Amino acid sequence: MTKAAWGDVRKKLRDTVGENNFITWIAPLELAAVDEDVVRLSAPTNFIANWVNRNFADHILRAMTAQGIPAQRIEVVVEVRVPAAAERVQRTLAAPQDIPRATRPAAVALPRTDDDIPAATLDARFTFDNFVVGKPNALAHAAARRVAEGAAVTFNPLFLYGGVGLGKTHLMHAIAHELQARKPEARVLYLSAEQFMYRFVQALRERQIMDFKSLFRSVDILMVDDVQFIAGKESTQEEFFHTFNALVDQNKQIVISADRAPGEIKDLEDRIRSRLSSGLVVDLHPTDYELRLGILQQKVELNRAAYGNVEIGHGVLEFLAHRITTNVRVLEGALTRLFALASLVGREVTLDLAQDCLADILRSSDRKVTVEEIQRKVAEHYNIRLSDMIGPKRLRVIARPRQIAMYLAKQMTTRSLPDIGRRFGGRDHTTIMHGVRKVEELRTNDPQLAEDLDLLRRLLES
Ligand code: ADP
Ligand code: MG
Repeated sequence: MTKAAWGDVRKKLRDTVGENNFITWIAPLELAAVDEDVVRLSAPTNFIANWVNRNFADHILRAMTAQGIPAQRIEVVVEVRVPAAAERVQRTLAAPQDIPRATRPAAVALPRTDDDIPAATLDARFTFDNFVVGKPNALAHAAARRVAEGAAVTFNPLFLYGGVGLGKTHLMHAIAHELQARKPEARVLYLSAEQFMYRFVQALRERQIMDFKSLFRSVDILMVDDVQFIAGKESTQEEFFHTFNALVDQNKQIVISADRAPGEIKDLEDRIRSRLSSGLVVDLHPTDYELRLGILQQKVELNRAAYGNVEIGHGVLEFLAHRITTNVRVLEGALTRLFALASLVGREVTLDLAQDCLADILRSSDRKVTVEEIQRKVAEHYNIRLSDMIGPKRLRVIARPRQIAMYLAKQMTTRSLPDIGRRFGGRDHTTIMHGVRKVEELRTNDPQLAEDLDLLRRLLES
């Protein structure tokens, strides 16, 4: 087996074991040697080697067979012995390039079902039960639920949009799972826009375009994920448009997702854009702190099932929910790594340990907001002059926004208190600390202020 073949096997494994398992267990493996039909892989630690041998050997073997590699057995051996010190451990757990990518790779294989519906594999974990509902995604969740009931079509299409990792694919899979359970006879087709194009091009090449058309027109529900992909691809758009219209005419439900609103997708034909907007358009807002914490708590429960009873120290989840604000997928990756670390070191994951182990993730999710931007936005919001932010005035109408800016500066930048003090007209770090505390206190019993903070944060993050 060559390095390249191992690369293909890895790619396949990424789909079958899931992103998190892949990053934690498969990515650190290297191809060591091949003896006849025994493939030897090397792992950086004993722990990983054992774990892989116990839990993933079959997966790996199957992936190899699927790639036409005649392996009978795999053996995972330890390459270098690493002392169990936490700082060494973290290096072996995941190299920086293995941090979850912005996008999950689309399912490469398109297994055919009996009646030849090309379907992407559904992720068994993406169910409604596993979806945590909060303010930012409540509407999208409710709309998805409605579609999943399979009642008469009331809005067509359902168009879900939102940034990367906010749960669009999860909701679409949940709809499919639910419908399959409720109406086993319904023909539910979920695929990515990329797969749609792939099938279309293939049908053209093999002169089977009539089959292609009748296939897509025979489904009861069509779900196309990441439709922004077809922007600029004219003939695919054309075909998509006809498929779309044919299904709408038959009163069949369509669910579409994209990373932005229909009106904002460039290089999309106007008629498609207006078609896409003609049903119910709902967006998944960026997560807020409560939702992130909720998701983490739920994932802890799910991970416990896989890793056993791992102790996550006090304040660790809160810390993660505060610091990793971009993308739920990154949040999950962080948690998976913590669980692996915990079972590796065999003790509670404290805040310190977590910070060490996740340093790279934390660094890359640091928002690049500056103190000056924060001051400007806050001044704008409260209608005060920017110069008053750094000036000496003590009036409440000025001092309060200033404290809010201090609080946001502490929360949203990596600057130290003395550093922030300097940027607030040379104030002492104790003044900044006082301001931060004051706002923390106020936000718990002043809903208006809490809302302002949310809004400002969102403005600054976008
Ligand atoms: P998108 O398709 O919007 O890029 P995904 O649906 O792939 O995002 O979600 C990324 C990851 O985050 C998935 O593992 C998904 O299960 C998880 N996730 C996102 N939102 C939620 C939520 N509200 N509750 C539970 N898990 C979530
Ligand atoms: Mg997606």
